[in-house]
Amino acid sequence: MIVVNRVNKNHLFLQTVQAPDLICPLCANKGKLEMSFYQIQLEAGWERNTRQISGSVYCHQCNQDVPIVRWDSALDTFFITEKETIMVSTSFKTGTKGKVLIWLNIVFFGAVILFLAGLFIYHRVVPRPKTADDRYKNEQVLLTRYTAGPQTGDIVKVYRFDSSSMVMYQITAIDHGTKTIKAEPYTKTVIPDTPPITKEATLALTDFDSSKEAIFSLHDYENRMFNTPNGERVGNISAVFRK
Ligand SMILES: [Zn+2]
Repeated sequence: MIVVNRVNKNHLFLQTVQAPDLICPLCANKGKLEMSFYQIQLEAGWERNTRQISGSVYCHQCNQDVPIVRWDSALDTFFITEKETIMVSTSFKTGTKGKVLIWLNIVFFGAVILFLAGLFIYHRVVPRPKTADDRYKNEQVLLTRYTAGPQTGDIVKVYRFDSSSMVMYQITAIDHGTKTIKAEPYTKTVIPDTPPITKEATLALTDFDSSKEAIFSLHDYENRMFNTPNGERVGNISAVFRK
């Protein structure tokens, strides 16, 4: 948040010094000039009394202020010399408004920092909730030792004789009574023998086409053969992935 107020420059009166030896640049009279000194104060919800000193010159002969652009070198020198002798005390004060603003800023930025820290810790400590696909991808592993019996959810990589290509099937149901399994094919192209083979198991659940679910025989499944229920050869099982 940080609210910036317009900064006011105040001139706090310090003292007036007579300048009897100086000539007025406006009326050319000597001995009628006096110089006043002011401490510059900055103010914007807070007050800061600075070390800076400003000056003004007044002529009692022509009754005018001598604008700073009309100062001659004698006046400049007088100002610099006299200024050196003046001691000013600096200070900083916050008004009620300034204090409120400072606290509001502390609370605001504190809240932002706490929120970011909380977010950071949350992501470190609390694991990201996994989607069904994430779990599927991460937990599917290649069965290095082939188990004869299929399980629901197994992904079976089959070399199909009809298309001479690799097709991944997900087993959706097993019927031990009729000795059949139901399986859905993976709709995307599987490049045969692409190493590493486990990469092929990182398939999304949604990429299996349930409309193309087909029934296969469990007969000779343990011999890695993929047959239709009639016993016609579909292809050979080349790998099995399991959760
Ligand atoms: Zn004058």
